[in-house]
Amino acid sequence: MSFDIKKIREDFPILKRKVNNAPLVYLDNAATSQKPQQVIDCIVAYYSNYNANIHRGVHSLSQEATDAYEKARKTLQLHFNAAHSHEILFTAGTTESINLVASGFSELLKTGDEIIVSALEHHSNIVPWQMLCERTGAILKVIPMNEDGTLQMDRYSNLLNDNTKLVFVNHISNALGIINPIKKIIEQAHQVGAAVLIDGAQACSHIKADVQALDVDFYVTSAHKMCGPTGVGMLYIKEAWGKTLPPYQGGGEMIATVTFEKTTYAEMPHKFEAGTPNICGGIAFGAAVDYLNSIGFDAIKKQEEALLSYATEQLLQIDGLKIYGTASEKTSVISFNVSEIHPYDIGTILDKLGIAVRTGQHCTQPIMDFYGIPGTVRASFAFYNTKEEVDALVNAVKRATMMLS
Ligand SMILES: *Cc1c(COP(=O)(O)O)cnc(C)c1O
Repeated sequence: MSFDIKKIREDFPILKRKVNNAPLVYLDNAATSQKPQQVIDCIVAYYSNYNANIHRGVHSLSQEATDAYEKARKTLQLHFNAAHSHEILFTAGTTESINLVASGFSELLKTGDEIIVSALEHHSNIVPWQMLCERTGAILKVIPMNEDGTLQMDRYSNLLNDNTKLVFVNHISNALGIINPIKKIIEQAHQVGAAVLIDGAQACSHIKADVQALDVDFYVTSAHKMCGPTGVGMLYIKEAWGKTLPPYQGGGEMIATVTFEKTTYAEMPHKFEAGTPNICGGIAFGAAVDYLNSIGFDAIKKQEEALLSYATEQLLQIDGLKIYGTASEKTSVISFNVSEIHPYDIGTILDKLGIAVRTGQHCTQPIMDFYGIPGTVRASFAFYNTKEEVDALVNAVKRATMMLS
């Protein structure tokens, strides 16, 4: 089946709207993706037809809702190639998934243990580990980055030792779009017996991760960056770790038996899923993954690579424009500045022209400090973006540059 961009864009109702009297050009996909009608319909169908609490009712609606929720878990299991569906936990998103693991490890770590993160991390993958170190006396170490946005892998090898207990790296950097060599990072960590958490929030809309092939211990993502709704995400937890880590929150759903003397916990995944979850969100997450697979990850890659190389080439023709993150292994994210113009000023003018980009630090202040800049303008493309939209961006940046210099 050929890639029919016109038909794909029809799936996204929001792409028809205007912003400031101009057609919307949505290039902030790294912050959140737009939602196709198929996912919107799934949400409406849930609340219109079978809204009920799950895993508890004997009645038909509860059964239907439970079946749909568990089917979505199965969809995620197959998509990420997990060995068991109970290794897939529903969470509120990447941030909560990371905090769940950090909270579990606070009971396992001791003074002098070491945790490694990369210089490219999102704040959500830095702060929970700093908090964990404060609680446990563990030490946080950082893999430094190179000018082109890659990690210094030889420095990583030197940081690893018998005290290393955990390594946390993102699959793809949200600020620069660089794809990290996670297979190698995981292999080397395992050689010293450390566990690895990969933050896939930025990767999962571009790449289909295979958790068994990666042999990763934890892999996390958010539905809203994959054409799904906000407020729901995933934690893949390798079975052995699911048995080792203590529960995250106490409450209904996560118990086997409760008496005032002692409570025993449910098996995975319920052990980690206290309370009524985001039922509709979980079901819609499954629908979003089905939608992405119906387009196909090969087709998505091809379209996004074409947009990335065309946009890079066109933008670089603008005088004084500098792109941050220039390594060859990258996805469709372009972080840039023009001369000394503040990114916020460019972003504001682009918005007046209907173009949505992100400006600022992108929750990655250490990267901005590394480059010695206040932030960047970040244009991030999805498979539903077009060459014409790249042209609109380039023309608008030219206009903004003229107005501001
Ligand atoms: C978006 C993002 C996060 C945070 O995801 P939330 O959905 O806000 O929890 C973490 N890491 C990376 C790399 C991201 O792109």
